[in-house]
Amino acid sequence: MENVLCDIKVINAIRNKYGFSFSKSLGQNFLIDPEIPREIVRQSEIDKNTGVIEIGPGFGPLTYELCSAAGRVVAVEIDKSLIPVLDDTVGHFENLKVVNADFLKIDAASLIEEEFTSRGIDRVVVCANLPYYITTPIIMGLLEKKLPLERITVMVQKEVAERLCADKPSRDMGAVTLAVQYRAKTEILFPVGKEKFMPVPKVDSAVISLIPLEQPPVQAKNEKFMFTLIKAAYSQRRKTLVNAVAGVCSKENTASALRRLGLSADIRAERMSLEDFCNLSNILK
Ligand code: SAM
Repeated sequence: MENVLCDIKVINAIRNKYGFSFSKSLGQNFLIDPEIPREIVRQSEIDKNTGVIEIGPGFGPLTYELCSAAGRVVAVEIDKSLIPVLDDTVGHFENLKVVNADFLKIDAASLIEEEFTSRGIDRVVVCANLPYYITTPIIMGLLEKKLPLERITVMVQKEVAERLCADKPSRDMGAVTLAVQYRAKTEILFPVGKEKFMPVPKVDSAVISLIPLEQPPVQAKNEKFMFTLIKAAYSQRRKTLVNAVAGVCSKENTASALRRLGLSADIRAERMSLEDFCNLSNILK
């Protein structure tokens, strides 16, 4: 059977049958180009030995491709009204389990153990067209919990993709860039125009890949302190770093540490790499 779940006629027929209306607050912008779910699956290198967690299946266009390629799929959808729809559209896949829950409240480590590891599936990935209002908490939650995930392939807003995947100091950078870089190798896989969604969102998107790292790329003596510095530096990013982190460290100490590192005393956060922040925090702590 072909995946017709991106076909606008099919989407409208499902909406009529179930009286479904898109919820803006749940970030419901559904895919209408079948090539995108296929490409997400291809680029995630999913095979029958792979277990997949999908966040927000919607009507199931990505779920369909995931179930066709993977060993087992667990799709977590917050919207109760979509559960009967998913039963209709992808319920025939025997390797699929749909869970009606808020992904942010799920114990993902137990889910991985119960649904995959205990069934002999050791390779687990996350795939999703993410609801945009919770992109960062979802990604940071997956990375901070140090889950046994081989990769995370997700669609996010284009600006967020650029921020998360910025690989050198630039205006695109934010505290979150460094928090992600500390835990994963990131890459923008391909752009997706806003016209590929229904309803059409205000901005374009991109699919990104995050590969969790076993070891962080820098050795912070005190990880918590390094991120306190990073957050302080970016919370007032227009100020010089010395002034922005004054609430955490005296201006004299910060300026002298920057000099020791060969960095200018009036440098701003967005000119500093993760390594610079790590070295700075190692001197200051
Ligand atoms: N995968 C579908 C597609 O590509 O057409 C739908 C993607 S839509 C951008 C995001 C989906 O995430 C919606 O189905 C929405 O109901 C669901 N969602 C929103 N918040 C969620 C949460 N906290 N936990 C799980 N699912 C959520």
